[in-house]
Amino acid sequence: MTPEHGKFSQILPIIPDDGKKVYADITDQMDSPERDRLEAMLRRQALLLDQVSDAVISTDEDFVITSWNRGAERIYGWKAEEVIGKPSENLLHTRYLSGTLQDVLSEFSAKGYWEGEVEQRRKDGSTVPILSAVTLLRNDAGELLGAVGVNRDITNLRRSEAALRVAERRYRHLFDRAPVMYLALEDQDGDPIIRDVNNFYLQRLGYTREEVVGRNAMDFLDPDSRQAALLEYPKIVRGTDKVAVRILRSRDGERIETLMRAAPELDKEGQVVGFLTMYTDLSPFRQSEQRLRVEAGRVQTLLRIVSRLNRQADLVGLMQTVCTEVSVALDVPGVSLSLVDQEKGIFVHGADVGLPLGYERLTQSVAIPPHLRGDMRDVELIRINPIDTLVDSPNYAMYVEQGLQIGVNVMLVRDAQLIGSLNLHITDPQRQFGPDDLALLRGIADVVTQAILNAQLREESLRYASHLQELVNERTMELEEALAQAQEADRLKSQFVSDINHELRTPLTNIILYLGLLTNGKPEKRAQAIAIMQREAQRLRQMIEDVLDLSRLDLDRTEMHARTVLLSELVEGLIEDRGPLFEDTSLQFSFHAEPELPPISVDASLVGRVITNLLDNAFKYTAHGQIRIEVNHRWVDSSEWQTISVADSGPGIDPEDLPNLFLRFYRGQSARQSGVSGTGLGLAICQEIAELHGGHIAVETEYGKGSTFTLWLPGERT
Ligand code: ADP
Repeated sequence: MTPEHGKFSQILPIIPDDGKKVYADITDQMDSPERDRLEAMLRRQALLLDQVSDAVISTDEDFVITSWNRGAERIYGWKAEEVIGKPSENLLHTRYLSGTLQDVLSEFSAKGYWEGEVEQRRKDGSTVPILSAVTLLRNDAGELLGAVGVNRDITNLRRSEAALRVAERRYRHLFDRAPVMYLALEDQDGDPIIRDVNNFYLQRLGYTREEVVGRNAMDFLDPDSRQAALLEYPKIVRGTDKVAVRILRSRDGERIETLMRAAPELDKEGQVVGFLTMYTDLSPFRQSEQRLRVEAGRVQTLLRIVSRLNRQADLVGLMQTVCTEVSVALDVPGVSLSLVDQEKGIFVHGADVGLPLGYERLTQSVAIPPHLRGDMRDVELIRINPIDTLVDSPNYAMYVEQGLQIGVNVMLVRDAQLIGSLNLHITDPQRQFGPDDLALLRGIADVVTQAILNAQLREESLRYASHLQELVNERTMELEEALAQAQEADRLKSQFVSDINHELRTPLTNIILYLGLLTNGKPEKRAQAIAIMQREAQRLRQMIEDVLDLSRLDLDRTEMHARTVLLSELVEGLIEDRGPLFEDTSLQFSFHAEPELPPISVDASLVGRVITNLLDNAFKYTAHGQIRIEVNHRWVDSSEWQTISVADSGPGIDPEDLPNLFLRFYRGQSARQSGVSGTGLGLAICQEIAELHGGHIAVETEYGKGSTFTLWLPGERT
């Protein structure tokens, strides 16, 4: 038999079964060839002994060292010659680790050998952990001949053992505390029987260790997963790694979706001795997946709403879209939107969908409750009102009629101020209103608030822009009018200058002409010449006075000396002054004043001037018939007026002349036909004076039949 390196059991055969015989034969009783053979064998053995790394030490019966191999030299540090002949105990100071000395000795005597761990001393004084196997050699009579010890330095073994222990502890720690479910399984007749289980598995499934260890792992699978597991099990047993989704079933029936990894446990020969199955609970992933899905859905909904709202240009359309979108997004049949009228402190109906006709009338002008009127920072922005909490609402009967189950009010708030409210009308008693709905509503409320404010701002700017446009148009028109007036005034001024030039020149030319005739002409023509000159001079004076009057009126230099007069008295006085005028004529003259007219505040001299002008014209242009003056009191559109009218039965006024009658220097058909002298300034002066008093002059005429000129003066001037 060939001894194998490092194997204690195989060293023994160097001493045949009856060790004593070999030992004795070699020393004392052997014949030469046998002895030679044995000695050769011993030499070979000694050579071999030197090859092994273990210390092989033999002693005599007193445990005095008789042989010491190379391995012993390496482990302990002494050379063979240093130790042979010395008692081993004095040298090695053996300390027994696996039992007391007493145990060791009794084992020796019972079995003839001892094996165990000791600690021994080296030459350098240090200690070394040793796995020692000692065999006592006895002769047939049982007498002790000596001992052989095979000692192995187990420093490295100890180290790796310690490392293994740490690794094991760590593994156990992970096994027990990992947030993953572990099962250590072993195959028994085709069934995966649970050998060990970690705490997490027990916690998650709600079992105790005793209820699990020793059971078939299939028992803890949901029936849905069992079929697949049974199919795949043989492969795992054959040593194939497996990753698959498995559904476990907890004690209380919860289905736990997991990701399973099964890895076989192999022995040194590569045989499957069991396997480790790890289940990762997928529920947290599924939950976050679900949450992400909800979140993504919410964002998508909001984006859709934003894009729909952006397409709405006007506020009314926008509010309608909001209601429709909210109804779809939250799957709520009825939605309404109210806006806040800050000034009146009420809600104004904006829009609604899915609500009965006339709903808006009931919710219109609802007063804003006091707690929503001020700063909204601490106010709950979403209120969920089950129907029984709405008993006090004025619309309770209508809500019940509609089958309302829950009313949800979402406050639309901007800068801590309430701008409106979005109201959801839920009629489905099963409809829950969860955190996802609330989160979505909050998002929608923000989006809607912004959109409403934008729309309001847009409408306001549009209103403002059109108002501006109107203002600009108005101003442009005013400016155009002012320009036209200025141009007209300019034209009139030029016309006036040219007219006055002509009008003054004509009488002056006549006067100069007749002055010449007066000096050089026939004496009999003198009287006529003087009369003409007097008339022309008179005309010239009249014209100059008229022009001066007008220019004073134009420049607003005329001071109003208003005083309270009775118009009838003023007119009567004037008629008296003009007495001779009436005597020289064949015309019938009458005067009538409405009795008991109240006094009126006017500048008597200026009003007198108007009456005189109108009377003069009437006499000038009327050839026959009558002239009538009236003083009256009239009401027009609740304004009180006093009027003085001068009516004649003269030629009337050509319709073509009417628009120009009050222009300066304008003389009409009647003047041209009659050849009556005049300046064309009289009526213009009358007009100015009337306006100075806040009144005006009106003409009624029938061509060929007569005219009535009326001065209107505001009645309340007292
Ligand atoms: P005039 O000095 O020519 O009378 P007015 O300004 O007083 O100037 O009147 C303007 C024109 O109005 C007159 O030229 C005349 O054609 C017309 N007119 C004024 N009063 C009468 C009247 N009573 N009957 C007819 N035509 C009149």
